[in-house]
Amino acid sequence: MLIQPTPSELVLSHTNALIIGGGPAGLATALMLAHRGWTNITVLEKRTAADYYEPDKSFNYLIDGRGQKLTDLLGLTEQLPKIGVPTTAFYITRIQPNGKRKTSKLPIVNSNRKIAYWIPRRVFVQLLYEEIERNWQDRITVHFDTQCTAINQISTEEGIKTLEVVAQKSNHEIERFEPFLLVGCDGIQSIVRTTLKQWDRTDRFEMQRFPSPSSGLRYKVLSLPPNFPLDAQHQDQAVSTRAYAIRGIWRSRTQFLTLGLLPLKDDTAPRTVNIITHPDHQIWSLKTGEQVLQFFEQDFPQLPIRQMISIEEADRFAKSNGGVFPMPQFCPGLHYLLKQEPSETIQAGIVLLGDAIHCFPPDIGQGVNAALEDVSVLNDILCQSQNDLLQALPRYEAIRAMDVQAVVRLAQTAAPWQYNQNRLQARLWMMRFFLHFGLSRFLPGMSPPAFFQLQNQELSYQEIWSQEQSSSKILKVFSIILLSGLLASAIASQW
Ligand SMILES: Cc1cc2nc3c(=O)[nH]c(=O)nc-3n(C[C@H](O)[C@H](O)[C@H](O)COP(=O)(O)OP(=O)(O)OC[C@H]3O[C@@H](n4cnc5c(N)ncnc54)[C@H](O)[C@@H]3O)c2cc1C
Repeated sequence: MLIQPTPSELVLSHTNALIIGGGPAGLATALMLAHRGWTNITVLEKRTAADYYEPDKSFNYLIDGRGQKLTDLLGLTEQLPKIGVPTTAFYITRIQPNGKRKTSKLPIVNSNRKIAYWIPRRVFVQLLYEEIERNWQDRITVHFDTQCTAINQISTEEGIKTLEVVAQKSNHEIERFEPFLLVGCDGIQSIVRTTLKQWDRTDRFEMQRFPSPSSGLRYKVLSLPPNFPLDAQHQDQAVSTRAYAIRGIWRSRTQFLTLGLLPLKDDTAPRTVNIITHPDHQIWSLKTGEQVLQFFEQDFPQLPIRQMISIEEADRFAKSNGGVFPMPQFCPGLHYLLKQEPSETIQAGIVLLGDAIHCFPPDIGQGVNAALEDVSVLNDILCQSQNDLLQALPRYEAIRAMDVQAVVRLAQTAAPWQYNQNRLQARLWMMRFFLHFGLSRFLPGMSPPAFFQLQNQELSYQEIWSQEQSSSKILKVFSIILLSGLLASAIASQW
């Protein structure tokens, strides 16, 4: 009698997975698959190393309870306090142009939530890579300096279709792979997604874009020495684990600037300042390091600028192109199956995760958490379907696509005015935010603003988005009643 293999046996005979992109989503997926029993996992990463330092990508992640669902699964959550600053110890010092300083502890909105940790991107990626090196070298191979350049469907002489992935090393050497599972974790410019767009005749792999007040803002990152001086006499130095908000003296739209620094655990690592502002700001027209230093000296008279910023760093800053915040966007299609017709057996499966399917400005701090949650969801589904890709990949898309869309809509609306790109709009947004927060404390059924809800890993993005839409309706009604009352009392006072 012929014994039919079970789906899990069938698929585990194909334990060959290729992951494009060794960022947080790619390395986390490699670890998740290794935990699930996959034995032949390859990651292709075009950067030269896991801890490769790119000044303009040296931003901080806040790994919250949502991201920690995956670090729990990988046994890495206990490492987070060693490399990150907990939100429970979030102190911020505000420094005014006249030198006045005030340090305050930011309130913890809900102490029952999981503690979140501020961790630089490079340090978090290195944590995942070290875990591969320490425990999974026999199952996972990471090729740095290797860029995926093409993905093809090829037919064998017997007419069987297979998947071929072509990669190129920096020495121009070409490598070819024939994976059973191809995972696209290659960020916003995903070659995996664009290939699927060409293969699929529908618009499933077309990014759906939503305008936001923060998309189009330009950013560059300025590196400062660890514990840089806060005054010319070196009596006071920056504390690495503390956040800073340093106000400039200029008020006009094309010059107004605030320097924001997020906390950092390692007090020997450079501090980074994110300069984020609208494209016609004067700072983007500075061509030389000397012009950069002069700009900062005039705008921040309270700081010993030349002791904080070296001329080399100022030069690098002037020459860097920086980046532009993207429009919030998502991809409706999350998977593709390469089938052998007419038998419908699958030859290969392709799945997309992370920024390849949802990408937005960092307003809500969810980029990395959403990516890690994609990996947890894929893990749950692979577990339920016993690694059978024919069932698992369509199910992953059915379950995750609505959340992917919801997080993008939240990114579009939850906190887009925080960069002071328009001070009137920022104030109006603040007023609405506090009104919403205040009302949510008294009105049963009205939930707090989405910005607070996002860190509650027990709520899905869809649930938060639906709460936000209900709250918007209540706020509209409340504002109409309030305005009518004010109008009526103004008219009454005229009589
Ligand atoms: C300025 C800025 C600030 C941000 N701040 C935050 C924040 O505060 N909090 C937050 O959660 N998120 C933030 N984000 C978003 C966050 O960086 C992403 O959401 C997160 O990194 C997604 O991880 P990923 O692995 O999906 O993609 P990525 O981090 O983009 O990684 C993709 C990887 O794929 C590699 N790659 C791409 N194409 C290829 C190829 N063809 N071959 C081989 N390798 C390839 C890339 O080199 C890269 O390493 C910010 C983004 C920006 C731009």
